[in-house]
Order: sequence, then structure tokens, then C-alpha cells
Amino acid sequence: MAYIISDECISCGACAAECPVGAISEGDGKYVIDADACVECGACAGVCPVSAPAAE
Ligand code: SF4
Ligand code: SF4
Repeated sequence: MAYIISDECISCGACAAECPVGAISEGDGKYVIDADACVECGACAGVCPVSAPAAE
């Protein structure tokens, strides 16, 4: 199961810079994860200041 970003996201962009497969991009009001690209490494959750990314 891929990680998903909740509405808590403040669009800081920290997670996108850390994702090893480039699965995270800026969306409408928050960042979003491409579920097909995510390898579930957890790096995004580790750097997020508001704990928005979580395993589905
Ligand atoms: Fe990218 Fe890893 Fe987060 Fe998936 S869990 S979106 S691969 S940083
Ligand atoms: Fe949103 Fe957290 Fe990613 Fe920043 S690190 S863009 S708050 S999900």
C-alpha cells in the first residue's frame, strides 16, 4: 500500500525533496503521492513537520 498525504499538509515541499523515486508532486492545496510510484520507504513521513504522510 502506498503512502498518502492527508489534508494536514501545509505544502512545504520537504517530502518531495526526500522521496527517492520522485513520487511526490505539488497538488491542489496540498502535495500528493503517485501511488504507482511510491515504494513505501517512509522518508516523506520522516521529514514532514505536520505528520501528513502516512501508510494507507
Ligand atoms: Fe516517496 Fe518513500 Fe514517501 Fe513513497 S514513502 S512517497 S517512496 S518518500
Ligand atoms: Fe505537505 Fe508534509 Fe510534504 Fe510538507 S513535508 S509538503 S507538509 S506532506
